[in-house]
Order: sequence, then structure tokens, then C-alpha cells
Amino acid sequence: MPASDLSPRRFVLRGLSLALLMATFFSLWSPSLDDFNRLKARWQWPDWGAAADAPAPAFDATPAAAVPVRIGLVAGHWGNDAGAVCPNGTTEVEINLRVATLVQEELTTAGYQVDILQEFDPRLQNYQAAALVSIHSDSCEYRGDDASGYKIARAASAYDSNLANRLLLCLRDRYGQATGLDYHPNTITPDMSEYHAFGEVSPSTPAVIIEIGFMNLDYNLLTRHPDVVARGIASGILCYVRNENIESSP
Ligand SMILES: [Zn+2]
Repeated sequence: MPASDLSPRRFVLRGLSLALLMATFFSLWSPSLDDFNRLKARWQWPDWGAAADAPAPAFDATPAAAVPVRIGLVAGHWGNDAGAVCPNGTTEVEINLRVATLVQEELTTAGYQVDILQEFDPRLQNYQAAALVSIHSDSCEYRGDDASGYKIARAASAYDSNLANRLLLCLRDRYGQATGLDYHPNTITPDMSEYHAFGEVSPSTPAVIIEIGFMNLDYNLLTRHPDVVARGIASGILCYVRNENIESSP
């Protein structure tokens, strides 16, 4: 047996000091029955059986469902008035709405969420989207042989006017390519540059207004080939939201 140097006297002394220490400890911390029950409630026996039966947590490799990017289209004059009217009764609003509907179809197919808004749609107040494009057509009166072509104005009120400018340049480039029409920036009126919706949408929404052609000289394109017109607008919006290159220089 291992040698012990504890004499009986020392042994008693050590026992006494240990007892003193424990007495001090319990006088400082005296657990009540409540303390004990609380400790008991916190302690949980591991349920080994349940753990073995539980299915292994599946690893979910599918990305969280992406929120579709929203695009707004104003069908010019829709819900308010006819806009320009031709002698044969063709109205600007019917051209604008038809084109807007075709643009919506193209962009929806491409995975975007597209709202078609009326001219004075209540949703325009603080409207938030990746882009807002208002679609209008120019007068049906004959205004000379050069009264053909399209023009675009952008909101100057945006937080980031570079974005609205970029949307304008994308539309200008793609619309010209798709339709073959000339760009007519010199006939932009205050009706366009101070377009009412520019002051209504959220300043975070880049907004432009496009006059897609003259209802007089461009009548054939606007009424018989609205799909070509719509493709030009949709391509311009896609150029912007996908950050594509603009080939032709501004
Ligand atoms: Zn108009």
C-alpha cells in the first residue's frame, strides 16, 4: 500500500478545514427546491432513438426563388383620352396600347414582371421598378416630309440621372435598329421633357417617354407592324436591364 505521511492528528485537521470550506460554500449558495427544479428542467436526456430515426436534413441545392424584375409601361393616353386622331378614325391610344401589350408579352417571356399602366394610373405615385417607359405616338397631321421618326426624353428628377440616361441610350439604339426610323431629338417638346409621370414615380425608378413615330408618315409601321415597334422597345429595355453594349455612339 502507498505510504501515507498523514498522522492521525493531521488527518483530523485536514478533515476539519474541508468541512469549514464546505460550510462556507453552502452558506453562500444555498440551493432552494426551486433552483433544483429549474436545473432539472434545463437538463434534457439526449433522445438517442429519435435521433437515429429522424431523416437526415436534406441539402437544398435550389436557389431561393428569384423575385422577378419589374418593368412599367405606360400605354399613352389609355384611360384618359384618345390622344392624336387620324382622319380615318385611327387613334393614338389604340396604337400605344397595342404596342404596350406586345412589349409586355416579349418581356414576360424573357422572365420580367411587366405592368401596363394607364396615363394617369394611381400606381404611378412612387412607382418602383427597374424601368418605366411611357409609349406615345406623334401627330397624324402632315407636318412636312421630315416628320417621320422617333424621339425619347428622360426624367431629370431621378436620384441617378445616369441610369435614366442609359435607359434612353439603350432604347434609342435598339429602337432605331429594329424599326429603321430616324431619331428626332430636335422636336422634343416640354410635354415630353416635363412629362407628368416623371414627377410621380419614385426617384429610384429610371423613367423615359418615347414617341414611337408619326401617325402620318410612319402610319404603316405603327398600325401594320406593331410587333416590329414592340420588339424595338423590348430590346431597348432588355439592353438596359441586362447592361448590354450600345454599339452605335450617342
Ligand atoms: Zn401622346
